[in-house]
Amino acid sequence: MYDVNSKCPDDFINHEEILTTLAYAEENKHNEALIDSIIEKAKKRKGLSHREAAVLLDCDIEEKNQEIYKLAEQIKKDFYGNRIVMFAPLYLSNYCINGCTYCPYHMKNKHIARKKLTQEEIRREVIALQDMGHKRLALEAGEDPVHNTMDYYLDSINTIYSIKHKNGAIRRVNINIAATTVDNYRLLKEAGIGTYILFQETYHKKSYLELHPTGPKHDYDYHTTAMDRAMEGGIDDVGIGVLFGLDKYRYEFTGLLMHAEHLEAAFGVGPHTISVPRLRHADDIDADAFDNGIDDDTFAKIVACIRIAVPYTGMIISTRENQKCRERVLHLGISQISGGSRTSVGGYCEPEPEDERSEQFDVSDTRTLDEVVRWLMEMDYIPSFCTACYREGRTGDRFMSLCKSGQIQNCCHPNALMTLEEYLMDYASPETKAIGDKLIDREILNVPNLKARAVVEENLRLIRENNRR
Ligand code: SAM
Repeated sequence: MYDVNSKCPDDFINHEEILTTLAYAEENKHNEALIDSIIEKAKKRKGLSHREAAVLLDCDIEEKNQEIYKLAEQIKKDFYGNRIVMFAPLYLSNYCINGCTYCPYHMKNKHIARKKLTQEEIRREVIALQDMGHKRLALEAGEDPVHNTMDYYLDSINTIYSIKHKNGAIRRVNINIAATTVDNYRLLKEAGIGTYILFQETYHKKSYLELHPTGPKHDYDYHTTAMDRAMEGGIDDVGIGVLFGLDKYRYEFTGLLMHAEHLEAAFGVGPHTISVPRLRHADDIDADAFDNGIDDDTFAKIVACIRIAVPYTGMIISTRENQKCRERVLHLGISQISGGSRTSVGGYCEPEPEDERSEQFDVSDTRTLDEVVRWLMEMDYIPSFCTACYREGRTGDRFMSLCKSGQIQNCCHPNALMTLEEYLMDYASPETKAIGDKLIDREILNVPNLKARAVVEENLRLIRENNRR
């Protein structure tokens, strides 16, 4: 067995242990008694080990799979209620010196237009995002020590937090940038980032080395231990993920859960979020050339099994997925989605001319934020623009202990309703506002404490009268 306290990737992402797990899961995929006992354990909502979760992922007894989906849906409701956190990516720069074979930013790609936003351009992009109603961003950039320096990121974060425009303000800036040093993570923390996000891409070391043939990202060990350094640098919300399609999904699923177990054991807090991106077509990249793509059913099963295995961890889905697929996995465990996204550098202000394309991958869900918000509310979800936890310092283990105790809903539900009402007043189309107001009126009745309910009702009344506190 691997040592969960180790900071050496060969120990915590142990190849032999993954192979043993996969063999065990394969052997037991029809073992009804074992599957029942794992489902019973999962019902306690304390999570599962990677071995147990791998058995559920492989389980091919239809009736048991239906139980797994039902349980995932219930756990999602218990921990997150019907709130869905909204965010948008903001691409700062696509300069990159890596050679990742699946990513259009790769250094040899000569026809992608290379762009890096100036602070003034960032201002314009952020105002465009604020005008849609966004409050939460995920910054994205390639890896280039000359163009994309830490000072550039710190300036950009400062710029973003300082922009106040009408009623808009970005209240939480997450960041997805290359693995870096403890000192740099400390600087990012001091600049006030929310979550540090870094996808492993693949946990399979041999494939990783082939898929990242050149550039600093080639260093599997440095990349895999990034979250350890981030935690050492004081960042307590980290977001992990793999890019499904690069290697075999069973291997990636197991590696992902071992990574989460390692962070929990070593730092007392698991990942804040898990992302489940799937490989997409992109400039100079033919996703069909990668033969590990997964179908929508397998994808849904992965989401459900992650939900059950780490019930307290947020799960993110991006606009890489289309409306139908997003709808399915929202029920099974996703708690955060992006809306109205552009993956090009500068894409929120101006559409790019055909010969100057800079985007990272093709977006599948091209709806506006207003359309995504309306769609969520039509399914009785509450799109949440709330960032109160982060603002009040409930990050890392403080957030996790609230979430694990099931209490997070008591403070999140009212906050989500109030921030949704602000969104509806400031940004929504009349049709979306009408649907939203009805939803909020229904949902107020789900605030259990009568005193708290009265406070929320009063606040909502003030927001609706444009008289905010
Ligand atoms: N430079 C950072 C790094 O090294 O991880 C961030 C890279 S990029 C802006 C964010 C993510 O996009 C990558 O981690 C990768 O998983 C994903 N990505 C790259 N190419 C993709 C493609 N063709 N389809 C879907 N996602 C892709």
